[in-house]
Amino acid sequence: TDTVHVIGGGLAGSEAAWQVANAGIRVILHEMRPLRMTEAHRTEGLAELVCSNSFRSDDAANNAVGLLHAEMRRLGSLIMRAADANQVPAGGALAVDRDGFSAAVTKALHDHPLIEIDRGEIAGLPPAEWGNVIVATGPLTSAPLADAIRELTDENALAFFDAIAPIVHKDSIDMSVAWFQSRYDKVGPGGTGADYINCPMTKDQYDAFVAALLAGDKVDFKEWETNTPYFDGCLPVEVMAERGHETLRHGPMKPVGLTNPHNPTVKPYAIVQLRQDNKLGTLYNMVGFQTKLNYGAQQRVFRTIPGLENAEFARLGGLHRNTFLNSPKLLDGQLRLKAQPRLRFAGQMTGCEGYVESASIGLIAGLYAAANARAQSLEPPPATTALGALLGHITGGHIETIEAGTRSFQPMNINFGLFPPLASLPTKKADGTRLRGNEKSVAKKQALSARALADLDRWIADRLRVAAAA
Ligand code: FAD
Repeated sequence: TDTVHVIGGGLAGSEAAWQVANAGIRVILHEMRPLRMTEAHRTEGLAELVCSNSFRSDDAANNAVGLLHAEMRRLGSLIMRAADANQVPAGGALAVDRDGFSAAVTKALHDHPLIEIDRGEIAGLPPAEWGNVIVATGPLTSAPLADAIRELTDENALAFFDAIAPIVHKDSIDMSVAWFQSRYDKVGPGGTGADYINCPMTKDQYDAFVAALLAGDKVDFKEWETNTPYFDGCLPVEVMAERGHETLRHGPMKPVGLTNPHNPTVKPYAIVQLRQDNKLGTLYNMVGFQTKLNYGAQQRVFRTIPGLENAEFARLGGLHRNTFLNSPKLLDGQLRLKAQPRLRFAGQMTGCEGYVESASIGLIAGLYAAANARAQSLEPPPATTALGALLGHITGGHIETIEAGTRSFQPMNINFGLFPPLASLPTKKADGTRLRGNEKSVAKKQALSARALADLDRWIADRLRVAAAA
């Protein structure tokens, strides 16, 4: 069939439909609202923003999400076009008038001659005769479809609730205080016996830390979230602390099997461990530190941990309902379900986090679906681009460790920790003087951004050449 069906007219589905149609392929976009609403959506508009109105930083040179904006603009993104046209002042951030934004997306899709919008819930797997389908039904996918997908994937693939722990940029951890070691120097699959970063605490530091956890402001659960159970074995750190002063010291913070090489004669009273979070080893997550402390409290309290005084967080912890696939295991490199390749996934369901990220995965899913419909192949975007880095996190990032059962896949915002490192780090400014302190990390981000945009432009030019030749 030469029609692509897109299920879900949110951030990802709207962008996917636009990309497919602009490649000259007919699209039917299925959106259940207003006939059936989700727990968070309030309108019938396509690409409704359910919470904040911010697309975060628009600084392409210094910020990974700003870079993703720039890449999407170069790829003709409808979401970015509508956002730019409906901008409201927000410092360096791109924030939008949510109604104007949604109306612009809805109108562009409605007016496109190759797009038909069909209002109705897809209450189960789409019929086989639809062929090429993009499923972009988001974190609040309606139950009959979510159930059907779960059955098809034959595992508890849809982790419908997640408690997430903060993730720290490794180069912001003070290794003159912290050290690498696995408990009892245990060598696991693919490990070396020194896989974890350990941060030591004295008794006074532990006492003060537990008190700060108990006192920190927590995020309130929305009323529709109160019936959702905690993920098994994933209690928020402050809930563990409430159960007893020593609970953490007997749980994730137990000081056993470890020796502090900076101070070998003094046994730490408690230890915070961080585990490598990405293949590149640039990001580490705080083991057992899933939390519903609010963002300000997390940064304040977690920076009291010795070694993390200057921690930069790639992601803060949080606890909210979330439907997503175990994508590295279940999807192929083109976002197709391995068990049923006619189904391609996009948006937050694939394990990215945020409006922009969801839309960007819709964009690439749309390009793949259009190429498929024309029996053409599409080179993946370079891993050095924000789009390629995010796609890599979703489809390949952790496959070895996930299959070995040593980590679980968790949604993530785009961040520079997902990018392959630079061949060499900048050391000097344009005027030849040495970079110092923070200037180095700024220069590094700028070099990563410049490399990304240059590589993206080459990829776009190659695609145009292939299309012209076809
Ligand atoms: P959505 O934008 O949710 O789109 C999915 C669409 O599919 C919806 O329109 C839905 O009605 C439709 N649908 C669902 N099931 C069916 C079905 N069976 N048949 C037909 N249609 C269906 N991200 C941020 O960047 N900032 C925030 O402040 C923020 N706040 C959030 C707050 C909450 C409560 C939640 C749940 C998420 C929040 N997110 C936020 C994440 C944000 O929702 C997602 O990143 C983004 O909207 C996901 O885009 P999506 O296209 O994957 O899903």
